[in-house]
Amino acid sequence: MCSAALDNATRQLGRDIFRELIEINTTDSVGNTTRAAEAMAKRLTDSGFPKSDVQVLGPNDRKGNMVARMHGSGAKKPILILGHLDVVEARREDWTTDPFQFVEKDGYFYGRGTQDMKVDDAILVTTFIRLKREGYVPDRDLILALTADEEGGKFNGVDWLLKNHRNLIDAEFALNNDAGGVTMRNGKPVNVDVEATEKQYADFELTSTNPGGHSSLPTPDNAIYHLSDALSRLEHYSFPVELNAVTRTYFERRAPLENAQTRADMNAILHTPPDPAAVARLSADPRYNSMLRTTCVATRLNAGHANNALPQTAQAIVNCRILPGHSPAQTEQTLVSVFADPKVRVQFLSANGGVEKSPDSKGFPTVLPSPEALRPLEQVAGELWPGIPVIPDMETGASDSIYTVAAGIPTYGINGVGIDQDDVRAHGKDERVRITSYDQGLEFAYRFLKTLTGGK
Ligand SMILES: [Zn+2]
Repeated sequence: MCSAALDNATRQLGRDIFRELIEINTTDSVGNTTRAAEAMAKRLTDSGFPKSDVQVLGPNDRKGNMVARMHGSGAKKPILILGHLDVVEARREDWTTDPFQFVEKDGYFYGRGTQDMKVDDAILVTTFIRLKREGYVPDRDLILALTADEEGGKFNGVDWLLKNHRNLIDAEFALNNDAGGVTMRNGKPVNVDVEATEKQYADFELTSTNPGGHSSLPTPDNAIYHLSDALSRLEHYSFPVELNAVTRTYFERRAPLENAQTRADMNAILHTPPDPAAVARLSADPRYNSMLRTTCVATRLNAGHANNALPQTAQAIVNCRILPGHSPAQTEQTLVSVFADPKVRVQFLSANGGVEKSPDSKGFPTVLPSPEALRPLEQVAGELWPGIPVIPDMETGASDSIYTVAAGIPTYGINGVGIDQDDVRAHGKDERVRITSYDQGLEFAYRFLKTLTGGK
């Protein structure tokens, strides 16, 4: 491993910027992304970026975004690099250390955002400064956008920038540092993930209504029973297995890293039709299950109005993560036929919680990342982590890539920070990152951005 290539000045700068970001609270409740955006803008202009190339802008003074441009020779269309500045809430009493203090302890940096994703923001700002100090000129503009409200809140920065300042961030493709990364076991890299596609998010509201009445005179026609029968049918239903170009490649490349049984199972599901016993064994692992099929699960329940009354209304929320190539409208049809009960109404909920017609949108394309992005990644991963495969991945959650992809900008999730697969603390307590992972992430970003842009 080549973290030795990191000079002391860069290492120190990287820590200073990381500390500054962690110690600016950027939660939706009491935080402020404008302060973080301004601090990073100042870092860049202090290092020689012209003020006209570094802007802080947003819909109000708490939800600012930073956009900085490193000018290239203009041989190709720009590349957009995305990171979000906001973090999930963290309460001092839940944590061992103060989540908004940057704490170095036992070989780790602790603080809210050390995994998701101030770690990457700090690496990107440090790398932009490092390249600037060298006088590096990429073969195309590199645009860095550090944004608000990825984790929640009403002012998503990527969405806002696309709607209000598209020219500032327009690019041939985007690299979202919120996805991808280096998967480790006990501090040893196992594979490098690159997010190539994403599932689509959809909430459905189930409603059963009934005239109700006195609970001393029950009838079989009961809103709670209709709803709970429907949910129990959902519990026992599995959406069909379907592989796409990304997940097929994922299982092909992941198989050699697994134990004998899982390896055999991963190979067996690549056949047509896939081996049902292998599907069943892999589906027992929630991570693999979520990659094999659309999932829909009950997440909320609300019913009845009095202990001594028959329920007039019973409602549940079912949250779906839909495979690319399928729409919420299709998924709604499947749910209706699984429930098989006209007394349970199924309605799509929009992002703001209102009832809407289910969209026909079929989500992300399922193409592998373009060689223009993939080759430099494979090259630099091979330098820093020899023998470790680069594996295209399907994000089963959701990221800001939904906005750029919808705007016609292909987006890949790439970063060089290693996280142990049993130490994922994003959104949780005592979030932390290995100091060695941080240093390697810094070196990765530097080499990757240069290799990507023809750099000497
Ligand atoms: Zn994130």
